[in-house]
Amino acid sequence: MSVQLLDGRKFAADLQSALRDECARLHAKPMLAVLQLGDAPATHLFAEAQRKLGAKLGISTHFVHLPDTASQAQVEAEIVKLNSDASVHGIFVQNPLPRQIDAQRISALIDPEKDVEGITPHHMARRFFAKARIGSCTALAVMALIESTGEALRGKEAVVVGNSEIVGRPVSMLLLDQLATVTICHIATNERGKLAEHVERAEVLVVAVGKAGIIKGSWVKPGAIVIDVGINVVNGHTVGDVEFDEASKRAKWITPVPGGVGPVTVTMVMKNTLEAFKQQRAHG
Ligand code: NAP
Repeated sequence: MSVQLLDGRKFAADLQSALRDECARLHAKPMLAVLQLGDAPATHLFAEAQRKLGAKLGISTHFVHLPDTASQAQVEAEIVKLNSDASVHGIFVQNPLPRQIDAQRISALIDPEKDVEGITPHHMARRFFAKARIGSCTALAVMALIESTGEALRGKEAVVVGNSEIVGRPVSMLLLDQLATVTICHIATNERGKLAEHVERAEVLVVAVGKAGIIKGSWVKPGAIVIDVGINVVNGHTVGDVEFDEASKRAKWITPVPGGVGPVTVTMVMKNTLEAFKQQRAHG
């Protein structure tokens, strides 16, 4: 059986083309506001990528920059300003936030109508009840790539490695919505030496840890769908959390890193911004 690559760039391009067509039919442009703290090179690269993608699709972008020494009160004041600005339809807060910032308090302050990452308690609760209209961009990207395989999830053994609020947990809930049998692995699973055991029975494996090669290729179940969310830089090269070459010999479907989940995630931010725009228009 030869492995099939889940090409995120191709998937994202198709999605972008649909979004561009939809934006072209609108009478006004949706606006995405991006709040960034600090001046790390990655921050500028991200801003440039978002700006370019927005311009391509017909979605305006507005960047708010604060120093990485900004206080909780300063960040909260910016969120309040963006919430009350009617020209802003979506708010994206770039992670990671500096240590002095309480990220949960920031998430809770965002107007749920403008939450394009599904990080507000409102959207988290709707996700719990399987009623979310907007969800974590990364989790939606993972699910879209799995769906593109055409494989049914009902009753499948799905293992998610990583338990974060923005990736692992929302992915697990979305898999559960599809009636997969979901196992969530985290730091303590690894501490007990049980990671391999769980991964080995995964028919669908989603890994979001941020540690290069934590998942050995030899653990991958033959015929599995493998979605590698991890982004790590090793000797100047971007790699995922899964040993790609070895895993590719066993998996039926696998995402590359780079070029897998990442491009779909950034497109999902724009898709959610368009959804937020339509929702705000509908509410007058
Ligand atoms: P995070 O908040 O740091 O969460 C990492 C998770 O991995 C935690 O739940 C942690 O468990 C778990 N973990 C840590 N060490 C582990 C180990 N040795 N064994 C098993 N589990 C372990 O990270 P995140 O924001 O979810 O991101 C994860 C990775 O995905 C990062 O590389 C990030 O750059 C990448 N990412 C990619 C995209 C994309 O679009 N491609 C989007 C977002 C993030 P505990 O909770 O028990 O500590």
